[in-house]
Amino acid sequence: MKIAVVGTGYVGLVAGACLAESGNDVVCVDKDEAKVRTLRRGRMPIYEPGLEELVRRNRHERRLTFTATLPKAVRESAIVFIAVGTPQDEDGSADLQHVLAVARDIAKAMNGYKVVVTKSTVPVGTSERVREVIRRETTHPFSVVSNPEFLKQGAAVEDFMKPDRVVVGAEDPRAEELMRELYAPFTRTGAPVMVMDCASAELSKYAANAMLATRISFMNEVANLCELVGADVDHVRQAIAADRRIGPSFLFAGIGYGGSCFPKDVQALVHFAAAKSYEFRILRAVESVNAQQKLRLLAKMRAHFGSLKGKTVALWGLAFKPRTDDMREAPSLALIDGLLAGGARVQAYDPEAIRVAKGLLGSRVTFAAGNYEALRGADCLAIVTEWNEFRRPDFARMRKLMRTPVVFDGRNIYNPQQMQQNGFTYYSIGRAAS
Ligand code: NAD
Repeated sequence: MKIAVVGTGYVGLVAGACLAESGNDVVCVDKDEAKVRTLRRGRMPIYEPGLEELVRRNRHERRLTFTATLPKAVRESAIVFIAVGTPQDEDGSADLQHVLAVARDIAKAMNGYKVVVTKSTVPVGTSERVREVIRRETTHPFSVVSNPEFLKQGAAVEDFMKPDRVVVGAEDPRAEELMRELYAPFTRTGAPVMVMDCASAELSKYAANAMLATRISFMNEVANLCELVGADVDHVRQAIAADRRIGPSFLFAGIGYGGSCFPKDVQALVHFAAAKSYEFRILRAVESVNAQQKLRLLAKMRAHFGSLKGKTVALWGLAFKPRTDDMREAPSLALIDGLLAGGARVQAYDPEAIRVAKGLLGSRVTFAAGNYEALRGADCLAIVTEWNEFRRPDFARMRKLMRTPVVFDGRNIYNPQQMQQNGFTYYSIGRAAS
């Protein structure tokens, strides 16, 4: 099939590359000409495991191309995906200007029947708005489909290739058939293609992200309580995860969620519920717990040191989670702001996010070339992102490099007893300090 994907970010580029990998001819469109040039030169604008190889192979086979010119891409395609950003507006609602602008541009370029698929995360009612925008601009026939994306950054290629389910909001059989055909290579192992009305498809995406964010904030509150009553959150987590009604996923306590999706999607859902005069009370709490949790390590550092003035803090991990270079809403940013405001110096290392971090933080932070280098002369280490390479370090080497052996672990990647045996003062989340 001939496909255009408009918006070549974490979702659009992964979707485009995976759709090309299954034999389609895909043109990825982005208004950011520098990004298009980078991709045409065979370089990656983002880090995502497995993506570079997939893009290289499909570019080489000429199934995957990149352009900044939308009309030609639309004219040559049967299906056009909209995968542009839906950032948070000032009031917390989803900003749909990019989605609606693209819908208008697609309509103007139409030369026959097209299926226009909204892959961006959009509030209920957006498919209808997209339909209206297109109808105003063209007399050509078209179908609008809602096809929310559930991939996770850090495992995006794998998630797209082997989805748990594919959700399709389609209101006409021709579009439904095309979507089933398109997704057949990805659902051969039995993942369901769930066809429903557009409103349900749109809400499914927000409900999924809000549920996951709720589990995280819930466990973080359990962890905070563990610290007050002398319980261990790891034991509590294992005990509740063994209950099949609860299950083991998304129960790890830490210093809060970040990224481009959970924070904005939780707020957007609160906002569009409010627009229907419904107060989504749980989600307001989820949000405020998360904002507090991001400052949890800072509070522990203040309690330990008294004042942070003049302290040198090593930071391991800047990205909002491992295996990505994305720093949108990352807990590291809230921690760094607090440390600098308190008069501390920050020496940070991340395996993938340093380039992005330099753009955001400039010279406010010193960036180290490796995790050990970040420890030189540090009064303490803060672990912010649970990259695998931080899990088994050489503790003796760490102690030698640091001025004082104190670790604040925001992701509970070490065992408190072992840390004590290794000569560290060790603080983590929901477990006794050692
Ligand atoms: P992103 O910011 O990485 O990429 C968006 C891209 O769209 C950018 O490259 C931008 O230049 C381009 N763009 C914006 N306006 C355009 C226009 N008018 N024409 C052409 N290109 C345009 O965003 P993302 O993380 O890929 O997210 C895209 C959507 O998918 C959002 O709605 C997001 O909520 C949703 N989503 C994201 C994830 C994720 O993990 N990142 C997962 C599922 C769903």
